[in-house]
Amino acid sequence: MSTEPTIVKSAQGAPAYRPQWDEYFMKLAMLASERATCPRMHCGCVLVKNNHVLSTGYNGSLPGTPHCHDVGCLVVDNHCVRTNHAEINAICQAARHGMALEGATAYVTNLPCTSCAKALIAVGIVRVVIFSDYHDSLAEHFFKESNVELSHLNMPQPIIHYNLKDFPSAVPFANDSH
Ligand SMILES: [Zn+2]
Ligand SMILES: [Zn+2]
Repeated sequence: MSTEPTIVKSAQGAPAYRPQWDEYFMKLAMLASERATCPRMHCGCVLVKNNHVLSTGYNGSLPGTPHCHDVGCLVVDNHCVRTNHAEINAICQAARHGMALEGATAYVTNLPCTSCAKALIAVGIVRVVIFSDYHDSLAEHFFKESNVELSHLNMPQPIIHYNLKDFPSAVPFANDSH
């Protein structure tokens, strides 16, 4: 038996669709948003440096405290104040794990609010990528003033495409009930 490796090319060639880095990290931010705990907003944030994920966050209650989805929102001036926003939670997670965010990129589903924009700038974020607008935010003003690059992505597909059709790598267990 020969141990010589052989190159075996797949019949269908390269996949027709493979996301670029920006779309890839934005999809991770969208995935993080699924964990949000406030019905008024489902927002996700992923902090990335050199194509490496440093931290993730979603808008959610403080650790160990009730969720808006369960007990209702805590509203002041028409804003729910129970949760930390996704960007703040991503920054807090990095702080807990002692990670510097200098020079990182923030992928956020929505344009940050004024407070989150200022926090992102203050921790050293140099680029912010979004696909959705947000009301009453001075983020663009502060980003411009601090030379933080703001990139808009097109509204991405809302579905993460796990390709079961073209790749034989996902095999159901024999005792799966569905
Ligand atoms: Zn809420
Ligand atoms: Zn915010």
